[in-house]
Amino acid sequence: MSTFKAPKGTYDLLPPDSAQFLAVREAIAAPLRNSGYGYIETPGFENVELFARGVGESTDIVTKEMYVFETKGGDRLALRPETTAPVLRAVLEANLHKAGNLPVKVWYSGSQYRYERPQKGRYRHFSQVGAEAIGAEDPALDAELIILADQSYRALGLQNFRILLNSLGDKECRPVYRAALQDFLRGLDLDEETLRRAEINPLRVLDDKRPEVQKQLTDAPLLRDYLCDACKTYHEEVRELITAAGVVFEDDPKLVRGLDYYTRTTFEFVHDGLGSQSAVGGGGRYDGLSEMIGGPSLPSVGWALGVDRTVLALEAEGIELDIPSATSVFAVPLGEEARRVLFSKVTELRKNGVAADFSYGGKGLKAAMKAANRSGARYALVLGERDLAEGVVQLKDMESGEQTAIGVNEIVAELESRLG
Ligand code: ATP
Ligand code: MG
Repeated sequence: MSTFKAPKGTYDLLPPDSAQFLAVREAIAAPLRNSGYGYIETPGFENVELFARGVGESTDIVTKEMYVFETKGGDRLALRPETTAPVLRAVLEANLHKAGNLPVKVWYSGSQYRYERPQKGRYRHFSQVGAEAIGAEDPALDAELIILADQSYRALGLQNFRILLNSLGDKECRPVYRAALQDFLRGLDLDEETLRRAEINPLRVLDDKRPEVQKQLTDAPLLRDYLCDACKTYHEEVRELITAAGVVFEDDPKLVRGLDYYTRTTFEFVHDGLGSQSAVGGGGRYDGLSEMIGGPSLPSVGWALGVDRTVLALEAEGIELDIPSATSVFAVPLGEEARRVLFSKVTELRKNGVAADFSYGGKGLKAAMKAANRSGARYALVLGERDLAEGVVQLKDMESGEQTAIGVNEIVAELESRLG
């Protein structure tokens, strides 16, 4: 072991388990690629103000969880705690929204950083795959995103997840509800900080996980009863579209989400095998965000799914993704001359698209065959001194154990045909 350890709240992804992680990312991205979403990548850090404004001053993310630092040049930056605000910033900066074809649909995959109290499923460095559809107000777009997330979880074989759905209203009806909720909260027995939060962002108090707070919220007014007609119609349409797509969901009139910028459709994917870190993903509509960061009005909707927790959900359901071995052919040279010959054959195989690996370090036959086994390769190529003299190589089928001599010059053609 070295003197150093991974920083608190982080972990390393190592082979072979890392393959599951990559496959999860892939599975989440595939339906998006298939539905008109283009890949976007933004920097791992941004001006801290982008998050303060875009995520909201009163959120846990901004008040407690951001990694903020000052550069030598005097800029105040933050490691990104989420990627919706950066994506919108990038789209506005590049004027993608002016190119005339709204919505701009993009997906991303990458690291997020939050200074949290580490627990299982809650890390300081974690990974999300997310999707954003920017610049259109259309219930079919909200439905599309929910359907696509559902599709990726189903494709992974997950079953014990639930989709919780709610509407947070818009700038017409939410203020009325907000005032009613505030009135209600002021009458409760809450600590100073929570009362303060009730004044800044009362909806977030509904999200308080503490039982002593939850107990007092049973009779809290519900947004559902305050939605304006436009929001009601919109929400009904989203529900109908996802129902027609066969997606099962639960109405959760108390669902609010951590970020201040959500409007109307809001949803969360929860998994019942994860204990208290049960949210595997979430999202919703954020019609006001663009204006909050200085852009034009661009009603938008998106989600982010947590890759780490999705992997934990797979474990909880006992699902092992079927990941084919990366290596098809493992080459074992015995002796100096054989090493040179076989190494150039491996390079040729690779150039021809055959996944091949090589026994390095001058191993003897036994140790080299062990390595061949571990690699998961379908075939081993063994080249000894006598083979060399005869211009042949031993091709071993690692499944059947069957071994045949083939000409050194036939290696590429023979393996290409055997591997299809
Ligand atoms: P939570 O309520 O668990 O703190 P959140 O509302 O802060 O979650 P979002 O900001 O909506 O989470 O992020 C979307 C997804 O990213 C979550 O559903 C979760 O899967 C994942 N996620 C968020 N924070 C963490 C973390 N600290 N470690 C691992 N995954 C995380
Ligand atoms: Mg959180």
